[in-house]
Amino acid sequence: MKKVFDWLLSKLPETHLEDDDTRIHTQFIIVFFVLSIVSSFMTFLNYLTSWNRLAQLTLLLAIVCLISLIIEVYAKSRAVIITGRILFASTTCAVFLAFAIVGEPEGFSILWSLLLPTCGFFLFRRKYGSIIGFVLFTLLAILFWTPFGNSFLMYGYTTTFKQRFPILYFSFFIIGYIFEFVRFKTQQALAELKDEYEQLYNHDMLTGLYNRYGFNSTFNEFLKNRNGHKYAFAIIDLDFFKKVNDTYGHQAGDAILTEVAKRIKEGICPHCIASRWGGEEFAILFTCEEDVESRCKAMVERQRTDPIKFGDVELIIKLSMGIIFIPKDEDADMIEVVKMADDNLYEAKHTGRDKYVYSEYSKFKKFVAKD
Ligand code: GH3
Ligand code: MG
Ligand code: MG
Repeated sequence: MKKVFDWLLSKLPETHLEDDDTRIHTQFIIVFFVLSIVSSFMTFLNYLTSWNRLAQLTLLLAIVCLISLIIEVYAKSRAVIITGRILFASTTCAVFLAFAIVGEPEGFSILWSLLLPTCGFFLFRRKYGSIIGFVLFTLLAILFWTPFGNSFLMYGYTTTFKQRFPILYFSFFIIGYIFEFVRFKTQQALAELKDEYEQLYNHDMLTGLYNRYGFNSTFNEFLKNRNGHKYAFAIIDLDFFKKVNDTYGHQAGDAILTEVAKRIKEGICPHCIASRWGGEEFAILFTCEEDVESRCKAMVERQRTDPIKFGDVELIIKLSMGIIFIPKDEDADMIEVVKMADDNLYEAKHTGRDKYVYSEYSKFKKFVAKD
């Protein structure tokens, strides 16, 4: 039994906290599936007890649930899926109303309509759930409380029943609404918490750039969807940064790191990704087609010429950069790419700093930039 249950659960689509439509889609599948089985079983029972009119109604419900299930699982267009759901909601309202009309007073068929408000909120959220719940409530109220409605009833319900049933129904309605409201608020709070948590573990607190983890995930994602496009990767290391800390203190060092991060962000196009690689090192993934070399050159030059202010002092903080270009259709794994950019950075550091060194992947022939 557990195996069958696990197998069924494994067939359900994935749901995502931040995308409530995925939850609703899965819940519709569950409800359609369960209700088509229950309705088929009730059809069988109703025929056995010769409650033929009820049997026809439960059979109709079973068929509609099955059709809606097929639509929900296989339809690609949203409009078709919504049509399947509306078909289900309207048929259910009509069948539950018919239960009240043709059901024997001592039977339980009318009690099925108590399911509707809860399921309505569960599946259609508060706005449409309320509309569906109110429609059935109004129809039941007309049926029980007006002479016009009474004329449809095939069996006489007692006055006490007629008075109390809509009250019971309305209580279920209110409880369903409150449950849905609490569920919605909880989901919203969890989604916000998830965003906050993701922001924290993907980003560097000091500079606001991606941290190494966030950068690596984004880099991997990019490689997966790259489709052979060319790109470039660069590692930046600030020159003699330790001296800044030793002379002006860590606070000055932190302020400079923040300003350099801001400048790096300004120096790249919005599609490219910058990160704090660690300590006083930064990394950039250039994914756009434009001239990467001139952007890198501008970054090095800006650091050489544009001082960073800290209190009363103005400091020139230079940087060295290692860049690797990955040409169109060339495959390289991330570790290799990083290693090559690092080798170029090493060369920049050991040939005078305050410069960038680049090479192209595969040939790995170095060209030291002249500036
Ligand atoms: P080089 O030109 O060879 O790179 O010299 P360097 O002094 O920049 O390199 P080194 O690796 O010796 O020193 C890096 C310094 O960066 C050491 C450390 O104090 C500083 N640093 C790393 N992370 C932070 C940080 O978050 N805040 C501050 N203020 N300093 C940091
Ligand atoms: Mg360093
Ligand atoms: Mg350094």
